[in-house]
Amino acid sequence: MFRLRREVYLDNNATTKVAKRVQEKMASVLKLQFGNPSSIYQAGRNAAAVVEDAREAVAGPINANTEEIIFTSGATEANNHILRVLAEVQPSDKQAILASPIEHPSVKNTLAGLEQKGFIVKFFPVDNKGRALIDKLEALIDEQTFLICCMLANNELGTIQDLSSISRIVKEHNLLLFSDCVQAIGKIPLDIKALGIDYASFSAHKLHGPKGVGALYIRQGAPFAPFILGGHQEQDRRAGTESVHNIVGFGEACRAVSDLLNRMKVVADLRNRFLEGLKEIKPELIVNTALGNTTPNTLNITFPGVSNAELMAVLDLHGICVSAGSACNSAGNEPSHVLKAIGLSDTAAQETIRFSLSTETTQKEIDYTLRIIREFAEGRMPTVNVLKASHVNRDFLNNDENYILDVRFGYERALLKGLPNSHEVSLLSFKRYIHHFPRDKNILVVCMGGVDATAIAYRLRDKGYKNVSLLLGGVIAWRIAQVELYSEMAGTNITKLEPD
Ligand code: PLP
Repeated sequence: MFRLRREVYLDNNATTKVAKRVQEKMASVLKLQFGNPSSIYQAGRNAAAVVEDAREAVAGPINANTEEIIFTSGATEANNHILRVLAEVQPSDKQAILASPIEHPSVKNTLAGLEQKGFIVKFFPVDNKGRALIDKLEALIDEQTFLICCMLANNELGTIQDLSSISRIVKEHNLLLFSDCVQAIGKIPLDIKALGIDYASFSAHKLHGPKGVGALYIRQGAPFAPFILGGHQEQDRRAGTESVHNIVGFGEACRAVSDLLNRMKVVADLRNRFLEGLKEIKPELIVNTALGNTTPNTLNITFPGVSNAELMAVLDLHGICVSAGSACNSAGNEPSHVLKAIGLSDTAAQETIRFSLSTETTQKEIDYTLRIIREFAEGRMPTVNVLKASHVNRDFLNNDENYILDVRFGYERALLKGLPNSHEVSLLSFKRYIHHFPRDKNILVVCMGGVDATAIAYRLRDKGYKNVSLLLGGVIAWRIAQVELYSEMAGTNITKLEPD
């Protein structure tokens, strides 16, 4: 039977829907403003003019001057740019950076790269909601320190940092302050000058703009050097022909910032009612977000005893998009560094979900989400069996009644061999085969670390397969639990369902 798929998008910290007026503005630029902003004739001058209009629109809501904004390909580039370049221009006796332990990977991994080059990176501690412990931060400053790096609002928790206090310390010690403000703009009022920030990064797609464009704010007079070299664009500070339509889309998104801010009270009320509803379902839940001091749209919750992979799979089946702080990757289901930094155990991290609302989220969507979570919590959803790797032994593997379905991607199969007698189909083409698996067998779904298999196992149950299991911890856990079987049988008698 045809079922209309409803979509409830509660993952607005990952990305947001592009606003209609942004789409229209971008479409008109793509159609009419094809000129290169560096060209001196009219078409070029027109393109340059719309880029400058957008620069004003971006600078306005954060109280920056237009010359303090350079456009980048996104916040990842802006974060890489400022950290790498600042490290490069420091004198040899200034080699230490102090950072929060809950930075976005684009900051965290760039810092790790600098550490490998000999820079000293120290992380100041945060409390159980992710708030910087300011006294401890100050105590870590020494004569080598040149930079403090602290995001304004955290993407996983929503927690907002007390940047005013941090910037006071920065000034007292004559340091520089870099803040990733990606999750703050459009959600909380942001006056970059009042906060005393020297460098900040932004990304358009977090506030209903397009992907692939962002900005770096550089306080006038702050040390700086270009990172991407080439032409003279962005006043010699970031080379490369401007992505005019993206930049204009970013500007248009920023023109709506005051409207977004006006509507945040409604978003916060909705978020708070959502939390009350969740507490009725699961009173023992733990809120990891610093509720009094957070972006109004974000809620990070640990549901003790509930696997986030299973809950996300069920929500996904019902068209509800949320995310978790652990990813199924080649290293296993690594809990996020953010959840670890606030003191969550690996188990608690795997019971944690982030909901992030937007001004478009409705009470009806929240009620629907609560109903699905309640049905899941009360065991009213079809269930799948969860098998430990120790259970998948020689007898299990040789039993003809079991059908092993390996949904890993090719690159994962290259890293680890699969279980013997498995049937391989990748996650992306799985949908094509969904009606063709044997209905009289026990299907064991296997992925690299256990998360993808959960989503697929629930989807199979939804399609009427009666006996479906998933392998807890995936092939990674199986190799560890079954060392001998792995070396003897892994990768044998594999059936590829899709052509190479
Ligand atoms: N910083 C934070 C806090 C983010 O949430 C993100 C996006 O996930 C980024 C940086 C990276 O932004 P972009 O997608 O523009 O590279």
